[in-house]
Amino acid sequence: MKKIALLATGGTIACTQTKNGLAPTLSASELAPRLGVDLELEVNAKDVFRLDSSNIQPEEWRALAREADAAIKSSDGVVITHGTDTMAYTAAALSFMLAGCEKPVILTGSQLPIDAPISDARQNLTRALLAAASGVGGVYVVFDTSIISGVRAVKTHTTALSAFSSVNAPCAGHIDSAGVSFDHPQRSSLPYALRARLNSRVLLIKLTPGLSPDIFSFVKSAGYRGVVLETFGLGGLHYIRRNLVKCLSELSAAGIIVLVVSQCLYEKADLSVYEVGREMMRENVISGRDMTTEAAVCKMMWALESENPRETLMRNIVGEFSE
Ligand code: ASP
Repeated sequence: MKKIALLATGGTIACTQTKNGLAPTLSASELAPRLGVDLELEVNAKDVFRLDSSNIQPEEWRALAREADAAIKSSDGVVITHGTDTMAYTAAALSFMLAGCEKPVILTGSQLPIDAPISDARQNLTRALLAAASGVGGVYVVFDTSIISGVRAVKTHTTALSAFSSVNAPCAGHIDSAGVSFDHPQRSSLPYALRARLNSRVLLIKLTPGLSPDIFSFVKSAGYRGVVLETFGLGGLHYIRRNLVKCLSELSAAGIIVLVVSQCLYEKADLSVYEVGREMMRENVISGRDMTTEAAVCKMMWALESENPRETLMRNIVGEFSE
């Protein structure tokens, strides 16, 4: 019988009604029996945290990566139950920290608590356990009928039961009446090792027309090491009246790395097309191409702790950008 480690972190899936509202009170060992089906798997349950995912931060990602690494070594696959709100960030962070992992690490959660009458929790958890038994390596989000690479998952809906989308890449796999299938598994350019170090001094800046340059002075004075810049369209930013290009050159001189992605959810940033993008390229910014913002932020935190952060950012680690 295959062994699956079930690591619980909280989230709606584990919520019950308390006098202060919904709170993640259920333990990992209380979740599995609620499925009411025998999946012919040995499920070993462990509580890592009991948090609303809004409270899951880089410190929790490091602890979770270590737990997942230990579980990978003693099981055939791992399921992590997690709140949906920041699941895409955790999935991206773990994709980098566990890059090259040859066993499945599956994140799942639900829009409704597991005991709610029309809850999606039982189906999502059942499907996640089956995906974890598939033997296909990598970090994925399993939600509704989709299996999404951890670096391509975005929470695109607040209430729909199909809450996650695979952005700029086809789903890694799907679940239908034929079972679980993986069509585009995560591929890594690194051999497996736990690489759990992160630098959380990363700031995401979404440009708005007229954004004042003073935000970049704050970036320097507050000691940030990396900036993810969500620019307009293919990679535009303003430099008349308020010269943001000059700010980028100051950041670069201060050794702060800038990774540029697009505000458009779909398709890529391409700095070579417009004059405004080319101005930016002169300041040594790195194009995040078609990376999701979630993957870009997590990759920056992870890359900053690597030997050569700029080179790491330009290298495709687990399919976070299209070639
Ligand atoms: N607030 C919850 C969380 O992210 C939402 C959910 O799990 O769906 O922990």
